[in-house]
Formats: sequence, C-alpha cells, structure tokens
Amino acid sequence: RIAYVNGRYVAHRDATVHIEDRGYQFADGVYEVCEVARGFIVDSKRHLDRLDRSLSELAIDWPIHRSALMTVMREVIRRNRVHDGLVYLQVTRGVAPRDHPFPVGVRPSLVITAKKTNPDALRHKAEAGVKVITVPENRWDRVDIKTVGLLPNVLAKQKAKEAGAYEAWFVDPDGTVKEGASTNAWIVTKDGVLVTRPADHGILRGITRATLFDVAASLGLRVEERAFSVEEALAAREAFLSSATTLATPIVAIDGHPVANGHPGSVALSLRQAFFEIAEKSPA
Ligand code: PLP
Repeated sequence: RIAYVNGRYVAHRDATVHIEDRGYQFADGVYEVCEVARGFIVDSKRHLDRLDRSLSELAIDWPIHRSALMTVMREVIRRNRVHDGLVYLQVTRGVAPRDHPFPVGVRPSLVITAKKTNPDALRHKAEAGVKVITVPENRWDRVDIKTVGLLPNVLAKQKAKEAGAYEAWFVDPDGTVKEGASTNAWIVTKDGVLVTRPADHGILRGITRATLFDVAASLGLRVEERAFSVEEALAAREAFLSSATTLATPIVAIDGHPVANGHPGSVALSLRQAFFEIAEKSPA
C-alpha cells in the first residue's frame, strides 16, 4: 500500500508524521472519508466543501490547492488499485514545538490514504441490519466540525462492540437522539416520512445524509428534519443509519429492543439501492 504524506508518495508501512504534529498532540486537525465505488469517487464536491468549512472554522489553511488535492486523491486511489473502497484525508495545523496557541508560519500537514472494501460484505451486512446501543451525549458543542478529536466516539464505539452492536447513538439529556459515533441517525414513521435531526452544531452534517435527501426526493419520500427520541425510534416503522461507509443501513435493535418487528426496513434498503444512481460520481 501507498500513502501520501506532505508531498510524497511513500510505502504505507513507512509513512510517518513528526512527533510534534499538532494533530498528534492536540487533535488540532480535520479529516474526510470518501467512498470509492466502481471506480468513482462519490460526492467529492460535497466532501471538499465540508473540508473547506471544517478548515475555515478552525482557521487552518488548505495545505495545497483544492484541485491539487483532488489530483492527489486520485493518484492515491490509483496507486493502491482501489476500485471499491475508501479514501481518508487528514489535514492538521502542522508541526511546531508544543504550545497551545496557533503557531505562526507553519504549513498544514496533509496525509491521504486509500483502502479497498468488500462491497458484497457491506451489502450483506446492510441486508441483515445492525444493532445499536445508546450512550449519553458527552461530546463538545461543535461536532459539526469534522475534527480528529474522536475520543468520545472511540469509547462509544468500543462500548457498542462489547455489547455486540455496530453503533452507539449519542442521546441528549432530554432523550432525543443526536447521531451515531460515526453515522447519522434516521427513522421512518408509520406514515412513511423520513426523520433525521436538523444539521445544526449538534451533529456532523453527513455527506451521505445530504445525498439521501436527494435520493428520498427521487423516490417520492418526504424528509422531516427534527429531533426524535429513542422511544419514537423503537415504535417507528424503521430506523437506519447513514455514512460514506455504510450508506443507508437498517437498524434492527436499539439497546436490545427490536425496532418494529425486528426485521431490516425496506425503505432503508431501497434508499441504499438508489443511492449510487443519485450521488455525484467523479472518475477516480
Ligand atoms: N456522524 C459522525 C460523528 C461521523 O463521524 C460520520 C462519518 O464519519 C457521520 C456522521 C456520517 O458522515 P458521512 O455521511 O459524511 O460519512
């Protein structure tokens, strides 16, 4: 495998950044994960728009020009022979002697990797549905910025894994669901309306979430952006989660209780099927 690190293509096993990189010391950096499907990068424009927003919220400069970054992404995909998989890109504020305020005159660090995924395995997983657990929301109030500061997400995901679940939903003190540790959260009401939390500062503006609005429209489904509770999700027709990795994946149980009849929802699976036709695709 090949990785891109600050202007160089290097063997993945030898790819390193400096010990005083601020991503390493302060989680002072942002990232993106894009899906590669059938040789296309999915929704690259939306991902780079979100990267632009994350960078500007933290006053980090683009490490290289946007079009150059796109070229490097393609090159990393090509060198790793990824037809179906994921591209990971990370920008940190750069390398400087450890001190909290922003260092002056430092160049941001850029790392890009790509890996293959097995689309059949992901599809089988989606068709079987996944389980989620709930955990109290304990993150900061700017999770709309896609930072590499993911410790609460790591701990929540580990708890899910130990419970035999795929995902953990962060739940506010008022009982409403925010999102998963690495996915957005949705339900389908008995009337067939899709419900997902508004994209304010309290959740990450998932790119898959945004594209699913378009997919829903193409299928004639209505989407309502509002908060919902765990109880509402359990009583709903369906629940599902979304991300670049999972697309739309049905949820069959929450904290060990079945969602509806405990079978994967058909609305989520039809959204998943229609996804690739609707999403923006740029050749990898
Ligand atoms: N919410 C969180 C906290 C995430 O980390 C992610 C993706 O990694 C998502 C939602 C889904 O976002 P996307 O659809 O852009 O992958």
